[in-house]
Amino acid sequence: MATIRIGHGYDIHAFAPKRPLVLGGVTFDTDYGLDGHSDADVMTHALCDALLGAAGLPDIGHFFPDTNPSFKNIDSQILLKRVVAQLHQRGFTIGNVDISVIAEKPRLINRLGEMKIILANSLGISAEDIAIKATTNEGLDDLGKGLGIAAHAVVLIEKSKL
Ligand SMILES: [Zn+2]
Repeated sequence: MATIRIGHGYDIHAFAPKRPLVLGGVTFDTDYGLDGHSDADVMTHALCDALLGAAGLPDIGHFFPDTNPSFKNIDSQILLKRVVAQLHQRGFTIGNVDISVIAEKPRLINRLGEMKIILANSLGISAEDIAIKATTNEGLDDLGKGLGIAAHAVVLIEKSKL
């Protein structure tokens, strides 16, 4: 018997000039990035919060506060690996992951495969257990005006009953 738990995470970051743009661990060749204390990888942050939420733990800001200089510009895959370690310590294994990213720019479709490989490595699961959908906000609201990028993530985790 296993206990199955679900978690949801959401994150949003505004665009900022002359910052690296990192999404799902993939760096894009753009002259703009996302504003933030870490590398501002909005997809990976939403994923971290989904995992933490599924485990009933506090959010990413609790574990990695932006007041801590050691997290300045940190690679969010390091944060994700630490979140996965937190779950493993509590006896959870990760089932599948489903991420939606909302971005008017850049074009993401050709990079989703790379993101899956990087995220699968950080999560310790197969890339086949990761889904990523890229969409736009159809010109509506601030996301649609291209002011930033948002991401939602849903995860399923399991704990085996001893
Ligand atoms: Zn974030």
